[in-house]
Amino acid sequence: MGEAIVTDVVIVGAGPAGLFAVFELGLLDIKSHLIDILAKPGGQCAELYPEKPIYDIPGYPRVNGQELVDNLLAQIEPFHPTFHFGEMVERLEVLGTPEAPSFRVHTSGGEIFESKVVIVAAGGGSFQPKKPPIEGIEAFERKSVFYAVRKMEDFRDKHVVIVGGGDSALDWTLNLHPIAKRITLVHRRDDFRAAPHSVNSMRELVAAGHMDLRLGQIVSLRGEAGELSAVVLKGSDGEAEIACERLVPFFGLTMKLGPIADWGLNLHENLIPVDTEKFETNVSGIFAIGDINTYPGKLKLILSGFHEGALAAQKVHRYVYPDKRLSFQYTTSSSSLQKKLGVN
Ligand SMILES: Cc1cc2nc3c(=O)[nH]c(=O)nc-3n(C[C@H](O)[C@H](O)[C@H](O)COP(=O)(O)OP(=O)(O)OC[C@H]3O[C@@H](n4cnc5c(N)ncnc54)[C@H](O)[C@@H]3O)c2cc1C
Repeated sequence: MGEAIVTDVVIVGAGPAGLFAVFELGLLDIKSHLIDILAKPGGQCAELYPEKPIYDIPGYPRVNGQELVDNLLAQIEPFHPTFHFGEMVERLEVLGTPEAPSFRVHTSGGEIFESKVVIVAAGGGSFQPKKPPIEGIEAFERKSVFYAVRKMEDFRDKHVVIVGGGDSALDWTLNLHPIAKRITLVHRRDDFRAAPHSVNSMRELVAAGHMDLRLGQIVSLRGEAGELSAVVLKGSDGEAEIACERLVPFFGLTMKLGPIADWGLNLHENLIPVDTEKFETNVSGIFAIGDINTYPGKLKLILSGFHEGALAAQKVHRYVYPDKRLSFQYTTSSSSLQKKLGVN
């Protein structure tokens, strides 16, 4: 077992609710680590609609999904949160007592955290890759078939087949091209959803003979012991083998509740019931904020998650600092809050 990271609060999910919780906790001198299965912060805003305008964030007549995330990141900067991306929170051990709770949190990457409080800000669940319907693909996963590029070095000097027509497929085609031995992009048809400038760059590389574009679908894999030697492409003129050592299918993401279902949180229709005073669950010390929670009158809006994080932080303070009294302060007039924010 590796050494545990010890912190006040573990936040599961770096969507808007989890990000703003860092701010509310930080004002109360509470330190947090954020864990997200995605490779970047922002949850649905960054993953599903980064360029769409949102019109109902208080104080912003109009703000794009990514812009909101960037501003939230700037706002929590003074509290130096630590992010752990590409990690799924899998297991939660409840230690301590209801009055003085503590938890051990285990991630898919083998990281272990020990905290006094856990805030579940997991939205609609963890984003997980949709898998292509290819028989036996599981045997190659994480060895030579990857659904995301976590370490570019895994692709150096390899013949890589990338499948898809969206931004992820095109971005990684262009990013891996300089280090891979050869890139073959496979898509169903010669029509791409990705940003036009990426599509143009890809077409220039193909025209110059620096990479290949093949139309069709991958129907089977060749290889042994999890190591690919080729994929079989079915196109309009029949089947053909493409020799390769890596396959990276980008078929989009789905949201799955995942392991949260096993944490004993009395789920109701895949949501976590909480009270509306503290947004605490049936387990003392575990809070749930944002889209993942439910209570009478709940609205799945970003502003609800912000409010919930602010109220949860008040109760979290009692667990983290049982002997300290908490006095209510405004950021406009409290010099101690301004000092924490680095503005005074
Ligand atoms: C197209 C679209 C438009 C929208 N427009 C608006 C709008 O105009 N106004 C508005 O208020 N709301 C809007 N919403 C809703 C808004 O995006 C959500 O209310 C908000 O994102 C919820 O934030 P969250 O932080 O609770 O969850 P999310 O944004 O879903 O983030 C949760 C994060 O938790 C991670 N996670 C989950 N489980 C785990 C785990 N076990 N381990 C590690 N990580 C995990 C996920 O990967 C994800 O990144 C829109 C949603 C969509 C899809």
